[in-house]
Amino acid sequence: MWRTLSPILFFGTFSGLGTLLVGCAGFPIHAEPVVVKRVQMHMGTLVTITAVARSEAIAQSAATAGFAEIHRLEELLSTWIPTSELSRVNFSAGVMPVHVSPETLTVVQRAMQVAEMTDGGFNIAIGPAVDVWNVTEGQRIPTEAELDTLRPLVDLQAVHLDVREQTIFLEKAGMRIDVGGIGKGYAADRAVEALWEAGAIAGVVALSGDIKTFGRLPDNKMFPVGIQHPREDGSVLAWMELQDEAISTAGDYERFFERDGVRYHHILDPRTLQPARSCRSVTVIAREGVWADGLDTGIFVMGPERGMELVEQLPDVEAIIVDAEGRLLVSSGLKQRIRLPEKPLCRDRVCQ
Ligand code: ADP
Ligand code: MG
Repeated sequence: MWRTLSPILFFGTFSGLGTLLVGCAGFPIHAEPVVVKRVQMHMGTLVTITAVARSEAIAQSAATAGFAEIHRLEELLSTWIPTSELSRVNFSAGVMPVHVSPETLTVVQRAMQVAEMTDGGFNIAIGPAVDVWNVTEGQRIPTEAELDTLRPLVDLQAVHLDVREQTIFLEKAGMRIDVGGIGKGYAADRAVEALWEAGAIAGVVALSGDIKTFGRLPDNKMFPVGIQHPREDGSVLAWMELQDEAISTAGDYERFFERDGVRYHHILDPRTLQPARSCRSVTVIAREGVWADGLDTGIFVMGPERGMELVEQLPDVEAIIVDAEGRLLVSSGLKQRIRLPEKPLCRDRVCQ
């Protein structure tokens, strides 16, 4: 399910386009790499593709290839499209296995791996609960009795993947899988591959807050990203630079409503089927977008302490967490890499 509207992360400005490149034989060649930046709407969100290439034509066609790849994946994975592969899997719940493409199988396999890593915090069988909360439109708090009837459906043991037959089967009627918490990161990875294959030498694919970068800017700078402050709209919590890395943020501030001073948002704890309560935002940096996106949602549910413990165990994974009290937690590998804005919004590491 995809319904994100506003961007969570945004880029700094690009400058110094002309540069000296090293040719294949090691001799420097003069070239003027071109940077093309285009925006389109896909997966219910704004998608920005930045392509760096040796010519305008190559950069443009690389960006076009990136958007085409995201569109193709949306047709497979979106539960808003009734003919998508995942919709067919959901419609066939309790009836029969559905043959799917390698891409759909991969996303669901990765989702199962993230579920295991996060102790069930990440759970793509959450679909029926996401629908009943309908946080963006409904703004209605479901009763405990309603949630109780859905609980048996939020059961990953009843999601069967057959890798050899390339099928997915949801064992119980009424089950629905929802890859809204991981699919955009996967799409960013695949779009970067498409850019690369189309001849781009560097680039960024950003599906709202799910971002994947490759290579460097023409002036040999890494790609700058700002992490959105969870309580100050449009303000940056921290800056950092990325190269061949992905970054994703899950927050309680994008899709939510408030009732009697309580914030109800779109990331649900699979155990309670209530909005997860122990974080305001979780940003994960990883080599691949699929891990960054899956883990941000899963760690949001796990909470700051156990979440950070997990991050410290995983190679090439870093995180910035703002907990429920506004405290900022930064993983050990990031402490030297992040820059706080000039006017810190987080005094003594507490972000109000
Ligand atoms: P976005 O970037 O769209 O805000 P997130 O990565 O924050 O996405 O994931 C939120 C989405 O994931 C929800 O809109 C819902 O579709 C799905 N979701 C909600 N709770 C969970 C959960 N516990 N496990 C897996 N997916 C979830
Ligand atoms: Mg996510």
